[in-house]
Amino acid sequence: MVSRRHFIKLTGSASALFVAGCQSKKLISSASAHVVIIGGGFGGATAAKTIKKLDPTIDVTLIEPKHHYITCPGSNWVLAGLKNINSLSVSYQQLSSQYDIKVVHDRVATIDPDRHFVTISNGHSINYDRLIVSPGIDFRWEAIEGHNDSTAHLIPHAWKAGVQTTLLHSQLQNMHNGGTVIICAPPNPFRCPPGPYERASMIAYYLKRHKPKSKILILDPKTHFSKQGLFIKGWEKHYGFGNDNSMIEWHSIPDNPVVKIDVKKRQLETDFGDIFKADVLNYIPAQQAANIAQTSGLCDDSGWCPVIHKTSESTLHSDIHVIGDASIQSPIPKSAFAANAEAKVCAFAVVSLLNEMDVSEPAWINTCYSLITADQGISVAMVYKLNPQGKISKVKGAGGVTPSIDERILSLEASYAKKWLESIVADSFT
Ligand SMILES: Cc1cc2nc3c(=O)[nH]c(=O)nc-3n(C[C@H](O)[C@H](O)[C@H](O)COP(=O)(O)OP(=O)(O)OC[C@H]3O[C@@H](n4cnc5c(N)ncnc54)[C@H](O)[C@@H]3O)c2cc1C
Repeated sequence: MVSRRHFIKLTGSASALFVAGCQSKKLISSASAHVVIIGGGFGGATAAKTIKKLDPTIDVTLIEPKHHYITCPGSNWVLAGLKNINSLSVSYQQLSSQYDIKVVHDRVATIDPDRHFVTISNGHSINYDRLIVSPGIDFRWEAIEGHNDSTAHLIPHAWKAGVQTTLLHSQLQNMHNGGTVIICAPPNPFRCPPGPYERASMIAYYLKRHKPKSKILILDPKTHFSKQGLFIKGWEKHYGFGNDNSMIEWHSIPDNPVVKIDVKKRQLETDFGDIFKADVLNYIPAQQAANIAQTSGLCDDSGWCPVIHKTSESTLHSDIHVIGDASIQSPIPKSAFAANAEAKVCAFAVVSLLNEMDVSEPAWINTCYSLITADQGISVAMVYKLNPQGKISKVKGAGGVTPSIDERILSLEASYAKKWLESIVADSFT
């Protein structure tokens, strides 16, 4: 059992996220406590590791079907030929050997919030004192006619990295010079707000070198997008954006969204009947919290999971915390950086609650980097705190976007982006 002094020392040193120290009411032994975590992505892995670092006597079980996790950050770079998909693969070996986290490679089928257990797909049940749910996203296929999970091998979304990324990559490689790539961006809210636009940049980087007569059309149900000003300046400079022969075109079509896909013809139809034909079609569907959150009653009508921001505990089921993309933590965007920060806030809260200590007031940080070319990048950063109503709000004067499009700065941003990926993976999984 970790001593109270040791725990307080850790809360003070392990993260700059906490603005107040823990105040102890009473310390009880957490030696028998069991925390179960659903999902071994950035959120779940970080939560598991942080709990064990704070209080090694708590038993932690991480349930994740995959033996290797492939990070979405960096997966757009694969399309540009800057990364190999295998280099984005992380194992759970170190979490289990170094931190004594029990990793179960299976899928949670059901959660029983009243009796505090989960059932995994082999039928076994696992009890918990507190459950952390970090299952990421699933797609709202009902929003489109003619396309669903069963046709994703023809029209890749590549919004869960791995086979889907490789598929999109090979379709781009097989496309003729002069072909049209269509990226259908999703409506808000969705995982990685700058992601579709970084993807367009990375595909353009590849096409400019190998198939310069080709075009990329972004069809967007939104009127604006993350880091728009910076992306557009980058596209103007590198891909002729705004000119007649621009490699990238962005079409904002909020009143005329894509409603139907003919997957065999790679053809889209909008609400007003406009037809777009692609050689490579990257349809990124509308999103919601992953299925396990939907079927366990953890989502509200929005399709996402409402939480008490101080602890990430669900407002719908007690002793269950939801973090990462699945949870509603707005205005924090859905990113790996944010999932890692939310996991730390949640882990501190869970350890405090299991030790019957007051939960500290948290703060969160997020930065989203994007590459425009192999060595030019941009970023947006923000710091968040709890407001008096217990909701997350931006800290005035903090954060901001890349201050200038000076080449030296963009090249520094690109190197930060690459180093950030290495450090977030190390921080979450090792
Ligand atoms: C192309 C792309 C680029 C991106 N780039 C960046 C970037 O540069 N920076 C950044 O910060 N973010 C980026 N992101 C966003 C980032 O990947 C996500 O925000 C992040 O992965 C969210 O973490 P999570 O833990 O919520 O979900 P995930 O990482 O998706 O992890 C969820 C895990 O839960 C598991 N799971 C699901 N259901 C169950 C179940 N029933 N039982 C057990 N396990 C289950 C899944 O197998 C999965 O491994 C990018 C995303 C994309 C698509």
